[in-house]
Amino acid sequence: MRVLLIEDEKKVAEFVARGLRAERMAVDVAEDGTVGWELAGTGHYDLVILDLQLPGLSGTEVLRRLRRQARPVPVLILTARAGMEDKVEHFEAGADDYLTKPFAFAELLVRAKALLRRGTPDRASVLRVGDLEVDRLTQQVRRGGKRIELTSKEYALLEYLTANAGRVLSRTMIIEHVWDQSFEGLTNIVDVYVRHLRSKVDAGPGGKLIRTVRGVGYSVSEGGEEG
Ligand code: CA
Repeated sequence: MRVLLIEDEKKVAEFVARGLRAERMAVDVAEDGTVGWELAGTGHYDLVILDLQLPGLSGTEVLRRLRRQARPVPVLILTARAGMEDKVEHFEAGADDYLTKPFAFAELLVRAKALLRRGTPDRASVLRVGDLEVDRLTQQVRRGGKRIELTSKEYALLEYLTANAGRVLSRTMIIEHVWDQSFEGLTNIVDVYVRHLRSKVDAGPGGKLIRTVRGVGYSVSEGGEEG
């Protein structure tokens, strides 16, 4: 899951981003409305968390622009303003939920997760490829019914591959989706993590599911092979 947080208050942004990353989400942070809109407009996000009072474009304007786009991304508004009129105005403008500062992270998380679920009605909560099961609600992974322990990044990588089973995903696509924008490492980080994943997921007798497509990237499918 990839979240865009548009928030100019550094302390709030850090606190929210840290919490979401601990929940295995990839989080990009924009500190003003203009950059926020540039990122949001790419359509790469599963959820946008949007402060209203921002330098550059206002949160209200970012919301209006987002709602003129074809792809409906859920938007959670974050603001110090608590007036009922404001809420009505922003719900009418297309906000999906509203959280007034100060808030507890636990409340933000519950609302964010609800929006992520609602925003993806076509996606099953349990992804299956062969005897592999990835439960997106509990974040548990099983093969042949046996639980597999993964780190946060390994899980995020496997979820992305499995959600796109049968499709070949390039290293760039994987980095963009699984790692934060702030990630500036080498693209071979993907190869390193795929190797870790294989040692946990493809080590058993059930056959290989993670396939290397030479010169392109990776794919998860039944009847895969070691690359
Ligand atoms: Ca602000």
